[in-house]
Amino acid sequence: MEVVKNLVTPDKYHIKCPYNMEAEGYCVHNTANDASARNEVAYMIRNDLQTSYHYAIDDKEVVQGISEDRNGWHAGDGANGRGNRKYIGIEICYSLSGGDRFIAAEKRAAKFIAEGLKAKGWGIDCVKKHQDFDKKYCPHRTLDMGWQRFLSMIKAEMYIPGELSGADIPRGTDDLVLYFKGLSRNGRTGTNQWGYEVAIDKNGVVLEDPHYSGNTKIPDGGKVLSGHGKAGAWIKANIKKGYHVWFDVSAHITKGIHRSVSHFNGIRGADELVIYNKGSASNTNMWGWEVAVNAKGHVTKKRYGGKTPIPDGGFVLSGHGEAASWINKNVKVGDTVKLVGNVIRIT
Ligand SMILES: [Zn+2]
Repeated sequence: MEVVKNLVTPDKYHIKCPYNMEAEGYCVHNTANDASARNEVAYMIRNDLQTSYHYAIDDKEVVQGISEDRNGWHAGDGANGRGNRKYIGIEICYSLSGGDRFIAAEKRAAKFIAEGLKAKGWGIDCVKKHQDFDKKYCPHRTLDMGWQRFLSMIKAEMYIPGELSGADIPRGTDDLVLYFKGLSRNGRTGTNQWGYEVAIDKNGVVLEDPHYSGNTKIPDGGKVLSGHGKAGAWIKANIKKGYHVWFDVSAHITKGIHRSVSHFNGIRGADELVIYNKGSASNTNMWGWEVAVNAKGHVTKKRYGGKTPIPDGGFVLSGHGEAASWINKNVKVGDTVKLVGNVIRIT
């Protein structure tokens, strides 16, 4: 965001900003005045009062009065106070009378702070209100209208589609959270109903279409992806049953039809999907669907029954019960079947 600079001159550093600063967050104020950002900063750097801050923001622009590597006197917590010595002071203009100009100024401030948080790698917990440092009721109008509301405005500006907010943490506004253990100690996410969730198995295969409800059961060894607000809408729009997903700081999605393999070779149990790649044929009874996949990954044969011959360098994919229905529905002769780790992908 563009910043208009009207910086205090070094001859006034001893009054306005005597110390070097390594900032650790933003401290938000309201001006309790009806002047523009330009006029607020011009007044601040012109007078000989100690009071100082880094930025004033109105409905049209952000004006800077002090460099971020110097302290300001805005938090009321003394010469060695954390607010005064570690926080970037932000004044939101037009708070005395409020109205549209103030609403727009607050929105601009939320955007400016969000950009700063992202650039500095800071979280929303790095945004404090003046009241946190000296009990003064400031930022007064922002507090009247709701502090959590203002924090939500910042978070909405920070939102990046598919980016995780964290794992096994409470889900806030627009958060995308992965639950391995959940918050409820009973194998469920512990989330409220106001979001979209999907269960994902231990191999990263999505087990269901997104549903709008909370407290989803977490699969054995798997996880649940849960999203509120924009993150919930993102889940709904981008993830479907059978997709393969993996995560680092954000979600990565492979669309299409996937399913986890129960095991390789051995005995096929109820509802299991088994791959046979050893010996001359699958070691199965007649109660299932099987496909033969050649060395190139192409399905050459599909049949209901057991003991399907294994192609040279290929394998037989065999399913019983629910897995049999899945094969019958999703795999046909000519399809390409790829094995990625313990996951089958059909294209
Ligand atoms: Zn204040």
